[in-house]
Amino acid sequence: MTVPKVDLIDGAAMPQLGFGVFQVGDDEAERAVATALEHGYRSIDTASAYRNEEGVGRALRASGLPRDELFVTTKLWNSEQGHDNALRACEASLSRLGLDRIDLYLIHWPMPGRGLYLETWRALEKLKSDGRVRSIGVSNFTVDTLRHLLEETDVVPVVNQIELHPYFQQDGLRAFHRDHGIHTEAWAPLGQGHGLLDDPALARIAEAHGRTPAQVVLRWHLDIGNIVIPKSVTPSRIAENIDVFGFQLTPDDLRTIGEMDKGIRVGPDPAVFESD
Ligand code: NAD
Repeated sequence: MTVPKVDLIDGAAMPQLGFGVFQVGDDEAERAVATALEHGYRSIDTASAYRNEEGVGRALRASGLPRDELFVTTKLWNSEQGHDNALRACEASLSRLGLDRIDLYLIHWPMPGRGLYLETWRALEKLKSDGRVRSIGVSNFTVDTLRHLLEETDVVPVVNQIELHPYFQQDGLRAFHRDHGIHTEAWAPLGQGHGLLDDPALARIAEAHGRTPAQVVLRWHLDIGNIVIPKSVTPSRIAENIDVFGFQLTPDDLRTIGEMDKGIRVGPDPAVFESD
């Protein structure tokens, strides 16, 4: 299975579908990433907060795949914000991953109340110019925090990784991204499995295509231009979630899913979320 790539605004290319490892322990992440790589995933999304960068790194090395075929994202945690903290955090992630370069480094949450994301971003700009990371981006930024970042700093984030699924479609933020050349990357693309995948409308579309609701949801993300990073530790689901390139949704299917937005988040509201 070869996953198409999207061209990022800084000239790099990123697989449109990757593999997430949130809430997966270090050894389990190693096994899950190994399985994902066998099934053709080449982009892995971890974070220092997930405490599994070492397991991810072990799986990457054991795969024997050339480094330039792999795309590794990790994220700087809230307690690592601030200029010098961010520089140290990146070195620590590189060392846990066993890499000499991260493909995409993200600020995990903006925490606007702390007022540190601009100086943190300037540290990421330095990491990029020093070659420690290839591309830099953000996660959980709102229109307000993104606009502020664009006004005050030099490098445009290549992605904003945000909660996005059919029950929480984020049309306003997606339009803002489009206007600024930022790619939308969807976390919880399957709504973390709760409820969404039992939706009767999705079941009907899935049945019509001989596919599963998860595959229909992932196909919808790809069709509307999102980058997706579904997570599973179950080998059959890992295989199922990348097998989404052999069918097409109809305009009616896309309209039906487009009308499913309930404005329901599964995660915290980034305008107010703060945590160490
Ligand atoms: P997800 O939407 O990928 O859902 C994962 C869950 O859905 C699994 O645990 C499983 O219960 C279920 N599932 C997966 N495949 C399935 C299938 N084929 N059929 C039925 N059920 C299935 O949620 P997520 O893990 O929260 O998000 C994906 C990735 O996004 C994470 O692993 C992580 O890398 C990233 N993420 C980032 C942030 C952030 O703040 N930036 C927050 C959460 C997650």
